[in-house]
Amino acid sequence: MKMKRFFVFFALTVLAVGCSTDKKAYSVVKPIAVEDAVAQRGIDQCMALWRPEDGTQAEFEAFVREWLAPTPEVRRVLYDKLAHALEIFNTQQNQLTIALSRPTILAEGEPGAIDYLLSSYDAGAHHSDDMFANKVAFITILNFPHYTLAEKNQLGPQWSRLEWAYARMGDLYTDRVPAQVQQRVTAARSAAEGYVDTYNIRMGHLLTEEGERLFPEEMSLLSHWNLRDELKSNYADVPHAREKQEMIYQVMERIVTQTIPAAVVNNPAYDWAPVSNRVWKEGQEVSLPAEGEVRYSHILNQFHAFRELDRWCPSMPTEIARNFEGSLEMSDQEVEDLFVRFVSSEEVRKVGALIAERLGRPLRPYDIWYDGFKGRSAIPEEQLTAETRRRYPDAEAFHRDMPRMLRNLGFDPAEAQFLADHIVVEAARGSGHAWECLGRTEPARLRTRIGPDGMDYKGYNIAVHEFGHNVEQVTDLYHIDYYTLFGVPNNATTEAMAFLFQARDLQLLGYGRQQMDDNATLDIFWGMYEIMGVSLVDMYTWRWLYAHPAATAAELRDAVLAIARDVWNRYYAPVLGTEDSPLLAIYSHMLNYPMYLPNYPVGHIIHYQLEEHLRRCGSDAAFAAELQRIYRQGRLTPQAWMQGAVGAPISVDPILSAVRSILK
Ligand SMILES: [Zn+2]
Repeated sequence: MKMKRFFVFFALTVLAVGCSTDKKAYSVVKPIAVEDAVAQRGIDQCMALWRPEDGTQAEFEAFVREWLAPTPEVRRVLYDKLAHALEIFNTQQNQLTIALSRPTILAEGEPGAIDYLLSSYDAGAHHSDDMFANKVAFITILNFPHYTLAEKNQLGPQWSRLEWAYARMGDLYTDRVPAQVQQRVTAARSAAEGYVDTYNIRMGHLLTEEGERLFPEEMSLLSHWNLRDELKSNYADVPHAREKQEMIYQVMERIVTQTIPAAVVNNPAYDWAPVSNRVWKEGQEVSLPAEGEVRYSHILNQFHAFRELDRWCPSMPTEIARNFEGSLEMSDQEVEDLFVRFVSSEEVRKVGALIAERLGRPLRPYDIWYDGFKGRSAIPEEQLTAETRRRYPDAEAFHRDMPRMLRNLGFDPAEAQFLADHIVVEAARGSGHAWECLGRTEPARLRTRIGPDGMDYKGYNIAVHEFGHNVEQVTDLYHIDYYTLFGVPNNATTEAMAFLFQARDLQLLGYGRQQMDDNATLDIFWGMYEIMGVSLVDMYTWRWLYAHPAATAAELRDAVLAIARDVWNRYYAPVLGTEDSPLLAIYSHMLNYPMYLPNYPVGHIIHYQLEEHLRRCGSDAAFAAELQRIYRQGRLTPQAWMQGAVGAPISVDPILSAVRSILK
């Protein structure tokens, strides 16, 4: 996990990147024609965002005459000043957030209610409005117009670094969403989040058809993550393992079909037999109404809020476009093609057959969560924990060891020291994260969980992952040539760097040179298979919504179930059996973060592509140098970045071939 990518960028990109303004539907001023194509683009985009309160036609024309850079030299000076200002804004807003959220994030005493209120303060919330009000946003658009993803991918190969930097400047102020439209989106998401966060199943009140209880009285599991984790834990040799898995599967089906009685959710007053769907209260059978469609109404409410947003984003007029072309910077078609190639591959069938062989039974739908590919490390976890506790009694000990870890991976000593000097390690309340630096005066922050006896192995493994994020953050900020190019193309690309580090955690403890472990690869592969399926259901759901904007929640429910069954029958039933399972609609992220799921498998795809490329490096030093060269490219588009990294577009072939060679 990493936090706070593109503070200012992010606020704009997530909601509306690329809301380029070629269409004139909202403009209040008349077009001005100029000779230069870039200048014309800037003028047109400004015009589309100009509102009556910004000035009259004459004032608009005067604005263009005053601020359109007459020469490349003047334009360059303007870029430098705007980029410098952006770095100052980002840094100051980041510092404010870090300081205010400190009590709720770091393990430094109990935070009070006021701390949570202060830590949720968004220091950048009004940045865009302010910049439009003082005309800085218009000056930026006028001189550094926006290019769509397709244009960036098409023109990018011929662009200089400076032209790329200008194009990224053009991503800053691409829309002007009215506050109440934004608030509606936020409210719909918060409502979905509240629904997800409180949807617990009382496991001690589930009954088999014989009236037996399989789970402890007090066990309460959040849908779907806790249900899934409990299901996974029953691959171990424990009593009633299969029965428990079958029951959880049945509960999941009742949730997605919404036949679950609404009153049993989060409520210990009822006993519920999910197979026959009968309910008892104090031993008396009662009849309760099914939940119906509440789950799907949360998706629908967000859809309606996004539709309001759409009209303020003329060139990315759907949430699908804003999510894929905007945030991920890969089109939904590109992502779908990658996923379909993977889930319909021969390798998936073969790994499925391997799992069936290991389980000694035909596969069931819930075996998409098979948990048996464990790291093959011969070293017991207790021994590793003893080692990490000895090495890292506190956060500072981990920090002191960073230069050595980086040298171990092949970084040259001076660079290893430089990176360590720009990362702060802090003990966190949660499991930890990497908080990025946004200006070249501040460090990146590694937040990690350290128990009273020091860092255990699980905490260490996560800390190494976050350390990878921090190295990426410092590398592509402090060594970048143009500020607007700092960072990585998308979340998936920073995850790839974190995975590269995490896969070498034992090497960093001195257990010899480490490559990706076969079991770890199979584990990731099977996890990708699962999450690509739920991602496809999520993506197809949103396509269906845009094709059926007047749908009711009940119609949406039926559509999602049909989509989930169709994806299952095409790509999962041939491997796991059971036609028509709706299981792939169970992911809670579908409700509160529409279309976010594809980020996870894309991160692994990129990771494997980098692993395969870096394997060809002859030495540790060459590995580290190549890794840094790749990350110093900064924030190109993902395809341009991957082309520059390995000389090929983003592809699932490296992970498929890794699995093929393991299966041999
Ligand atoms: Zn991460």
